[in-house]
Order: sequence, then C-alpha cells, then structure tokens
Amino acid sequence: MTAGSFEPGGTGRALAGLRARVRRARAKGAGKAATERARRLLDAYLATAERHGRAAREVAAGMARGEVALAIGTATRDALMSDPPVVVRRAACAEGCAFCCILRGGDGGTITETEATRLHDALAPLAGQPDGRDWHPDACPALDPVTRACRVYDARPMICRSFLSTDAAACETNATGGAAAGAGLIGSHLDYLAAHALARDALRGTARVPTYSLARIAAGAVAGETADASLDAARHATGTLDDTCRNAARAGQITNS
Ligand code: SF4
Ligand code: SF4
Repeated sequence: MTAGSFEPGGTGRALAGLRARVRRARAKGAGKAATERARRLLDAYLATAERHGRAAREVAAGMARGEVALAIGTATRDALMSDPPVVVRRAACAEGCAFCCILRGGDGGTITETEATRLHDALAPLAGQPDGRDWHPDACPALDPVTRACRVYDARPMICRSFLSTDAAACETNATGGAAAGAGLIGSHLDYLAAHALARDALRGTARVPTYSLARIAAGAVAGETADASLDAARHATGTLDDTCRNAARAGQITNS
C-alpha cells in the first residue's frame, strides 16, 4: 500500500490512506480559507471513524454519497445556531413565506446523492398532487401551493436549511430578478460544499461523487419517475460543484465570528 492509497475493505492503515488523500485534495472554487477549514473538519471526521474502527469502504461510500459532507455541515450549523449571530436572530423567515422556494434559473441548487435520494423518496408518495408550480411557475415542486409550506420539510436539502433573510420583501424582489440585500447563506453551507468537493477529489479514480439539481429531482418525483430515472436526469456536470463552491465563497457567509 502506498502512502496515498487506501484498501477499500480494510480499517486502520486503510483509513490512514484515505486521510492522506484528503490532505492532498483540492476543493476547486471554495478558496483557500474555506478549503483548509473543510479539510480540518473532514480529517477530524475520519480520525473519529478510525478510532471507532469503521471500515474504509463504508466511510469512502459515505463520502461519495455526501453523507459525510452533510454530517459536517449539520454539525457546524448546529454549533452556529447554538449561539446565533444577530442577523440570524433577526431573520424574517416563517412558514408560508416561500419566495426563496421560487427556483429561478431552473436548477434549484446543488445537492448530494444522499439528499437527492431522500428528497425523491419523501416526494414520491405525493406524485400527481397540486404542487408549488400551481402557485408560481418557477416554484419548487415540493412546495404546497396553498399553504406555501415545504411538503417534505424533514427531507429538505442543506441548501434549504442554509438560506435565510432579514427581509421577506427583498426575497420577493430577488425572486422576480432583482438584487436586493438582506438574504444570504449561513457559513456552514460552505463547509458542506467544500467538504464534498474535497471528498470528490480525494476519491478520484476510486468512486464517483456526483451532485444533482434539486429542482429536477423534485420535478421527477412528483411526475412519478423512479428514483433511478430522476437521479440520471438530474445529475450535474462535474464543474457544477466547483461553480457552486465559487459562488458560495464569493457571496460571503453569515457566521458568529
Ligand atoms: S429566506 Fe426570505 S422568502 Fe425564504 S422564508 Fe426567509 S424571508 Fe421568507
Ligand atoms: S425542498 Fe422545500 S424548502 Fe427546499 S426549495 Fe423545495 S419547497 Fe422550498
């Protein structure tokens, strides 16, 4: 075994090989500070997995599906929300306020395979019912067109958990093509994206690490498409994750530091 390889079925030295790959990996687009922060978080995750004797194959599969990025993003989000910055405490977000669920541009946001599968499974039983597009043509199909609440709240992806605003009117302006201030992503979202980009680079040549279009997955699920068909149709080109990282890094983050 070389220093940078890992034995998919093994533990111990095998996970050390995976950690070595993460140390060399790049998260294109995320920027240096966000990349190094995500690398520390990902390495801490792998160190914990190593201590618990988890198999490298299982951990690598979780990285490929996005479970690891999701766990990292969720942990940093929970930490941020335990001592929320002023902008979070002043958020105007409330159930039924859904301008942020109008998905201009058609893609709806970058999500991992774990999130795509979870979203599809939660929406599939609602196939054929009126959906968000009966309220607004560009709304997410997961939205309830009457109450304007998310119909799959527990299964909503990280992008939906990361976005907030102090001004609902600004969100309405932005949903119609404007550029009003007040809305933004909390910092944990860049941790999640950069960790997934690092995972993809670390697993290069050993596993596919795709991302998907939220809007396409939701549209397929409510149209009665199988999960496999929706995932095939919604899979992003490789560069989309890089672009998503770049856009999130440029947009600035809401943090409590
Ligand atoms: S982000 Fe904007 S549109 Fe979405 S719930 Fe918050 S205030 Fe409403
Ligand atoms: S999944 Fe739910 S919260 Fe996310 S955009 Fe769709 S309706 Fe809105």
